[in-house]
Amino acid sequence: MSFYLPTRLLTGPEILLRRGELLAELGTRCLVVTGKQASLTCPALQDAKDTLQRLGIPYLHFDGVLPNPGIETCVQAGRMAHAFGADFVLGIGGGSALDAAKAIALSAANPELDGPGLYRLNWPSPALPIALVGTTAGTGSEVTPVAVITDTVGRKHSFRHDCLYARLAYGDPRYTASMSLTMTANTGVDALAHCIESFFSRKATPLSSALALAGVRQLVPRLIELSAGRTPDPAARADLYEGSILGGMAISITGTVLPHNLGYYLTETYGVPHGAACAVFEPWLLAHCAAAVPDRAEMLCRAAGLSVDELSNLIRQLCPPCFPALTESEVERILPRWKDCNALKVTVGCVTEDVLRQLWLQVGTRTNKNPSDT
Ligand code: NAP
Ligand code: ZN
Repeated sequence: MSFYLPTRLLTGPEILLRRGELLAELGTRCLVVTGKQASLTCPALQDAKDTLQRLGIPYLHFDGVLPNPGIETCVQAGRMAHAFGADFVLGIGGGSALDAAKAIALSAANPELDGPGLYRLNWPSPALPIALVGTTAGTGSEVTPVAVITDTVGRKHSFRHDCLYARLAYGDPRYTASMSLTMTANTGVDALAHCIESFFSRKATPLSSALALAGVRQLVPRLIELSAGRTPDPAARADLYEGSILGGMAISITGTVLPHNLGYYLTETYGVPHGAACAVFEPWLLAHCAAAVPDRAEMLCRAAGLSVDELSNLIRQLCPPCFPALTESEVERILPRWKDCNALKVTVGCVTEDVLRQLWLQVGTRTNKNPSDT
């Protein structure tokens, strides 16, 4: 068994204001990376600016990250960081801004590289030191060595490298309070999906399994409350945030499995938010694993306090499908994408092409006939 997770994570109310001085250990000039939305609706950006000013650290603010960030944006911001002389990067936001901050830190250290060059794992220099402040409770990107970045033709690619681990991460669950209930559900189910997928990965270890089960125990009661329409109070927000970190730690060891990879297609093609896209395939994974590895499925259900069916229904209720059913021709066209895909190889049990075909034919909403069906 091997284990490496070099992130110093600090959580709690006002943690950035209380322990911001640790940022000075990362460097002397900072590029702050955000999207446009979260910085307006939650106080994380202001807390970061106040902290950097107090420390006397000059910073440049790049606020051009969009959801499912694009590689060209990361190259552009990386060159800005290089020209500014930044020696560390502070990413603030959801998984998109945090992942972009990782890729930007890489680009800033290698400004001669173009987009395709960033996807190759043989960069001349490691990424600049990275600090992250999460504002959603889902991806766990704060503690993973992964960046999911969209290429120039709109396809999502996940790449991982040890130099993409944040040195420092601040988790203040108050920052997540400005998320809508729908977004809380989508991101909370993403965190749960990380725990489930990690637990059913062929790469699972005793440690990753313990983290995944701890995440399930932390998340499921709060997701049940959410599904009953209860607005999360600060304690629930804290549980959801910590559950997302446990899920992130679990996938930092194992990676995700098939549902995440399938979900990328729904995000790319129909704009389905990341958590909701993965949610579509979790009930299938649960049923598949209940048959393939019943003892492990039983362990997961015990942690959740729910049966496979109840857990599947919870996920469906929180993230109902919001994209049209696929046509047979679309399914045939996309199936080769998963032929040699790693996510398929690391999913426990046997997943044949026909299983995948049937799965794709069953998902999506059928209330409106697809124009392409006619
Ligand atoms: P997101 O794409 O980061 O954010 C979605 C939207 O919510 C953005 O407009 C964002 O604003 C806004 N937002 C963020 N925090 C908010 C808050 N506190 N209040 C109100 N609005 C807020 O959503 P996400 O689900 O956290 O991240 C999804 C991305 O992470 C996907 O690209 C996915 O592939 C990736 N991911 C990465 C990992 C990993 O290990 N690295 C794991 C799973 C998923 P801004 O525009 O200001 O950011
Ligand atoms: Zn995810």
